[in-house]
Amino acid sequence: MKDITRRNALQTAATMTVGAAVGTITASCATTATGMKTPFAVSDTYIPIVGSDMVYPVRRIYCIGRNYRAHSIEMGSNPDREPPFFFQKPTDAIQNVAIGTVGEHPYPTLTKNYHYEVELVAALSKGGRNIPVESALQHVYAYAVGLDMTRRDLQRAMGDEKKPWEIGKSFDRSAPIGPLHLADKTGHFTKGGIWLKVNGQSKQNANLSQMIWSVAEQISRLSQAFELQAGDIIYSGTPENVGPVVRGDTIECGIEGLPNLSVKIV
Ligand code: MN
Repeated sequence: MKDITRRNALQTAATMTVGAAVGTITASCATTATGMKTPFAVSDTYIPIVGSDMVYPVRRIYCIGRNYRAHSIEMGSNPDREPPFFFQKPTDAIQNVAIGTVGEHPYPTLTKNYHYEVELVAALSKGGRNIPVESALQHVYAYAVGLDMTRRDLQRAMGDEKKPWEIGKSFDRSAPIGPLHLADKTGHFTKGGIWLKVNGQSKQNANLSQMIWSVAEQISRLSQAFELQAGDIIYSGTPENVGPVVRGDTIECGIEGLPNLSVKIV
């Protein structure tokens, strides 16, 4: 399902049964089928859902920064003093990678220091404002393994100049992701191994329990700043030992309880 076209997704939507859990997704698909004419086609973004004939429509991609203690320190921050902060990637940064395949991930332009960051991704099926931490996980529909690929040199340069991070974080294909797994089936991820290897060599190896701000806390905080909506996904931060890759390298990464995600840098 490397290339999910709008037409396929709409056909899928048309054949699916309507249930409470998917009501918002149905509504979202319906709004794309209003029949209005456009001068050209712009592709929508979808992520496959394991065990389902539906695909997940992506509205926004939120990412949290410096959410593991040791990574916060390696990035030059004080993990005890910093409130959570967020940035976004454009939805078309998504690169879907099917289970058991190695996605071909293009080395981007302009950078000489291209970094991996393995992250747990939470996908929402319900939005809201000022969501309490206690009920926040009720908004999570599914989880996936994702990579927050980063042009580190450009991110740092912009940060040093107090300019926005976009060029370092929010570029084409900067968000490789495996398929979504329903939270109903996997349960919610609050602990478990999170790891990444490059060419078979261990690079990142930590535990989700080491997040400074849990997924529930992230949803709660985000919903104070933005009205969250169904279709929003959240990259929940990377542990320590981020580092560079070059063309020809293969990244394999995973989270305990989810299938591995692999990409080759081309
Ligand atoms: Mn990240």
